[in-house]
Amino acid sequence: MPPLGMGQAHSAVAYAIKKSVLPPINKDTKCVDCGGQAKHYDHRDYNKPLEVEAVCQKCNMRRGPAIPNLKYKLVIQKHYLFKDQMLELMRLNEKTGIPASRTIRDAIDQFLNTKRK
Ligand SMILES: [Zn+2]
Repeated sequence: MPPLGMGQAHSAVAYAIKKSVLPPINKDTKCVDCGGQAKHYDHRDYNKPLEVEAVCQKCNMRRGPAIPNLKYKLVIQKHYLFKDQMLELMRLNEKTGIPASRTIRDAIDQFLNTKRK
């Protein structure tokens, strides 16, 4: 799964370029890290979708992933869970380190097994 908010941040940059808020990357755009030919706008934090820097492919890889935007996690979970269920799941995850996705899968398995009997 890509980092949360990545798709939304990339869409925001594409839209900003289209609306001339950000200059498009072209052959004259330099990588801010090494001065080479820039290929992408890099995010360090998906919570700030328009805070980007032009980088080359190599520096982009070296920089690693940006900070995820957890707002999108809450939106995704809200569709499937009631608020108290979501909070309980987050508490459980904090206490045990078991990922929320596994707890949900286990609960579904348990439910299906109960129904089959
Ligand atoms: Zn570079």
